[in-house]
Amino acid sequence: MARDVLKVISSLPTVRPQPTTPDRIHLKDLSLEEIEAFITGLGKERYRARQIMKWIYQHGATSFAAMTTLAKDFRGRLEEVAVIEDPRMERVQTAKDGTKKVLFRLADGAAVESVLIPGKNHWTACLSTQVGCAMGCRFCLTGAMGFTRNLTPGEITGQMTRLRFATPEGERVRNIVLMGMGEPLANYDHTVKAVGNLLSDYGMGFSNRKITISTCGLAPMILRLGRDVSVNLAVSLNAPDDERRSYLMPVNRRYPLETLLKACREYPMPGRRMLTFEYILIRGFNDAPGDAVLLADLLKGIRCKLNLIAFNEFPGSPFRSPEETTVRSFQQILLDRGYTAILRASHGRDILAACGQLAGR
Ligand code: SF4
Repeated sequence: MARDVLKVISSLPTVRPQPTTPDRIHLKDLSLEEIEAFITGLGKERYRARQIMKWIYQHGATSFAAMTTLAKDFRGRLEEVAVIEDPRMERVQTAKDGTKKVLFRLADGAAVESVLIPGKNHWTACLSTQVGCAMGCRFCLTGAMGFTRNLTPGEITGQMTRLRFATPEGERVRNIVLMGMGEPLANYDHTVKAVGNLLSDYGMGFSNRKITISTCGLAPMILRLGRDVSVNLAVSLNAPDDERRSYLMPVNRRYPLETLLKACREYPMPGRRMLTFEYILIRGFNDAPGDAVLLADLLKGIRCKLNLIAFNEFPGSPFRSPEETTVRSFQQILLDRGYTAILRASHGRDILAACGQLAGR
């Protein structure tokens, strides 16, 4: 390999946990600016980087041979020094309600899951950001697995490019939620870089209004995210007081409600956008009418909407789903106090594809 190329490669970020091709640069782990630096380091024009990104994200190219707008000898050169690698789609399960759960196999053998959720005229893709999760939320099957590793930027966007170019529904994905396996803000740099490529005009071209990052409440990272990108934020709240929230979600001991909600108040939301709070209703734990009143008081002054989700039971789960009537009266109390409170239907429960049920099995 020529010395100039080695120099360029060594200055680029190395984010692969277990590189399958250690001597080649993974282009999907790079931003446009980094691809430009790489390409100009090879002695080629800067605009070639934009062409390459379009091939990867807009035409689904997984090899340089497919990039017919590049000269043949340049494609050959790229083969020597770079690689485009996507997770392998190993299994697709379809639930009774049409939800699809996709198991992806990564280069090092680890597995993650993504979910395609049907809407009226479009689909929503729910992507993973980590293999497992270290946050240990008690209601979540992913949390019970423990943490294995962060996904690279290319492994995060790779779920979306595979869904778009290898499933019939992919063309009609309009929304992306980073709510699959893992805590996105605990894998901050890779998540933000992946989101950059999902948003880029030369990448997948999604609107920032159509991408939502979900967090269990890493308050300092919420503030940082607000400074770095402009996407929707969903905060998984699940209890109206610190005692119960700390029991359900250990992260609350580090960032209790006061700290978390202060960060939420400071999160910039352009236009008429609203922050989303997710509240999983668990029978006899956080679903009493008094809890709805506490919740309404807690969120006063925050421009937000609430997504109410009935707990999805999974094998061995310590909690139970709430009664439907309980959920409706909980919602009514919030509506009466002027909140937008939406009952979120659980999608794909029969194939363990619903919220908190992903385990990469
Ligand atoms: S709910 Fe999210 S943050 Fe909590 S354990 Fe599950 S994946 Fe991790």
